[in-house]
Amino acid sequence: MKGKTHAGIGIITLICLADRMPGKFDYLGLVLVLVGSLLPDIDHPKSVINRYILPFDNKLTKVFVYFCAGVIILWYDYLNGGTYILKALAVTVMLIAISTHRNGLTHSAAGMIMFSFIAGYIGNSYGIPYLVYYFMIGYGMHLLCDMTTNQGIPLLYPFSKTKAKFPITFKTNSKLGAALENLIIVIGLALAVIKFPAIFN
Ligand SMILES: [Zn+2]
Repeated sequence: MKGKTHAGIGIITLICLADRMPGKFDYLGLVLVLVGSLLPDIDHPKSVINRYILPFDNKLTKVFVYFCAGVIILWYDYLNGGTYILKALAVTVMLIAISTHRNGLTHSAAGMIMFSFIAGYIGNSYGIPYLVYYFMIGYGMHLLCDMTTNQGIPLLYPFSKTKAKFPITFKTNSKLGAALENLIIVIGLALAVIKFPAIFN
């Protein structure tokens, strides 16, 4: 599934839930929904997020960059007395290095918990604890949407590598798949236009 489809679905979900959110339609919240929507595909060297992180969009660069980042974080953590959050971040980054697309941590419930934990910690340290809910909307919707594709996701990783998917799925690279994704984006835009005025009331 394309990055812009995930981003679109994240925004649609936020618009639909905005009335019930602690910060309503918060711009910082919107940024977090987008980050959450795009983050799971950090395991793909050509994904939207990696376009901004990796100097070259190939597998080897991805493994090298994330592995080195993990080592640097661990080293920094060691020099600064050690905190659990930096260790969690280092482990997460190293797991990103070794997982191939849709086969590891980032497309699992464990990955969502780990990243939410880190997002929650960052939100708390800036005195905005509810930001983690926005992040979880984006991340959760990404996982749900990937479950509608025929590849599925390893939801129970690392305990099981079985791919979880819905009973009815579609092929992302097929004509129908592309048409469905475009339809989702159009519906999203229409919903956004209808809902937008209410959000600012
Ligand atoms: Zn994905």
